[in-house]
Amino acid sequence: MLTLQKTAPQEGAELLHREAPAEPGAGEVLIDVAAAGLCGSDLHAIAWGPGYAFMSDLLPLTLGHEFSGTIRKLGPQVTDYVVGERVVCWPTVACGACDACAEARLQDCQARRIIGLHRDGAFASQVLVPAANLFRLPAELSLETAAMAEPLAVAVHAVNTAEISDGDKTLVLGPGPIGLFAAWVARQRGGQVALFGFQDSARLVCARELGLQVADLAEQNFDEAVQSLFGGTVDRVIEATGRPQSVTDGLKVLRSSGILVAAGIHAEPLSLNLTDFVRMKQQLRAAHDTTPAAFQEAVGLLAQHEAALSQAATHRLPLREAPAAITLAKQREAVKVLLLPEPAMAPAR
Ligand SMILES: [Zn+2]
Ligand SMILES: [Zn+2]
Repeated sequence: MLTLQKTAPQEGAELLHREAPAEPGAGEVLIDVAAAGLCGSDLHAIAWGPGYAFMSDLLPLTLGHEFSGTIRKLGPQVTDYVVGERVVCWPTVACGACDACAEARLQDCQARRIIGLHRDGAFASQVLVPAANLFRLPAELSLETAAMAEPLAVAVHAVNTAEISDGDKTLVLGPGPIGLFAAWVARQRGGQVALFGFQDSARLVCARELGLQVADLAEQNFDEAVQSLFGGTVDRVIEATGRPQSVTDGLKVLRSSGILVAAGIHAEPLSLNLTDFVRMKQQLRAAHDTTPAAFQEAVGLLAQHEAALSQAATHRLPLREAPAAITLAKQREAVKVLLLPEPAMAPAR
């Protein structure tokens, strides 16, 4: 089967034909992949940016952690599913043995492994996953839209972390898939939301089509944009840019006792004026990955709002055109690029 693999601890990824996965082990299922989204983490891993050295000992490895598909084969002890069911998968595989796992805080497992970053992922016709990580799809939800369940679940978790409720004014910085979805989810919770970008016109167009208020900081000054949209400070900020300056900017317009959630992946440290921060009693929190409950909520939101949310899948390309997909995502021309693998061969009878 054709796969997109990281093969060496350096920049790049390769399209390679590899053996299909082995038989599913106990508690595992084999999935025929329908669609897999290209994520910022995939781009970082391909560019071999800082923070991905952990992959060195795991290569070669098939990338791809945002995916949907159909169950082809069940391993021993899988009793909750049947062959042919349509599913999505939370790619975070918890160890099951640590204190966090014992307390059902699977997202906090320090020995967790991510499908597509620690073990073979879904830029392939088939992927092996633990049945415990699956979520069934409602009949009305298409497999392609469902492939965005993971980034939407990450956004739901960021909004939960920010404790956004009805009446809050929320500023979201960064219109990539996570920021765009976070702004949309925040608006679903009620209150006023604006999404800011910088030289992100294609993504801001998509955000407008989703009915979001936006500002392009290439054309408008940050303080003026906040003033004109909110008329003063905001109650919540969600940062999804990966630029420490966005955290500084966000704190500047956050009200006293307001909450800022950092959700970007940052390569540089933050310089923070602690005097102002303490006097303003601001809360700086971090959100990363998601939780099973947020994942379940994301699947429901996709089914309920498919017509709107499917617009975020701006590009669909066959897996063999992965290099073009990577270029599109890097140039921020796309919101979400879905890669469609070659169909797996029919199961032997
Ligand atoms: Zn992702
Ligand atoms: Zn654990």
